[in-house]
Amino acid sequence: MFVQNTHIIRRQIAGLLHEVADPEIPVVSIVDLGMVLDIRPENGHWRIDLAPTYSGCPAIDVIPFLVKARLEEAGLTDTHIEMEISPPWSTDWISEEGNEKLHAYGIAPPNGKASDQEYEGKPRSCPQCGSTETEMISRYGATPCKASYKCLSCLEPFEYFKCF
Ligand SMILES: [Zn+2]
Repeated sequence: MFVQNTHIIRRQIAGLLHEVADPEIPVVSIVDLGMVLDIRPENGHWRIDLAPTYSGCPAIDVIPFLVKARLEEAGLTDTHIEMEISPPWSTDWISEEGNEKLHAYGIAPPNGKASDQEYEGKPRSCPQCGSTETEMISRYGATPCKASYKCLSCLEPFEYFKCF
């Protein structure tokens, strides 16, 4: 591996990772979610460190395979995917673009920083109509990382991605 190619390959890998969608929420990529920690050459291969998101979401086991498959498709076979559990992933790592995509998809993004929250926070507004009048229906939605809410204005149910 030539040193001068390192920068180009890293950018190529980063671009490909942008195309790997979260299995749970297909509109956001693993990059949007802040799961990609590092991309670096190591012992003749490319090492990619990923942070698993919420534990208890079964999709998480699939992500290293999806990443490997996407890279192999592009001809990058000498890769090594490592899941780094420490420090634990936080919703604070979701990018601004990721939060916007969640909102557009109808999921209220985490509202505020996890460290500032008393608990899991509550949605800033209904992703459907923008009303701030919302009510929690259940602490757990389709997955443990989300809560079920109802908008008191348009009456549509929606999910809130909890801060943690
Ligand atoms: Zn609404």
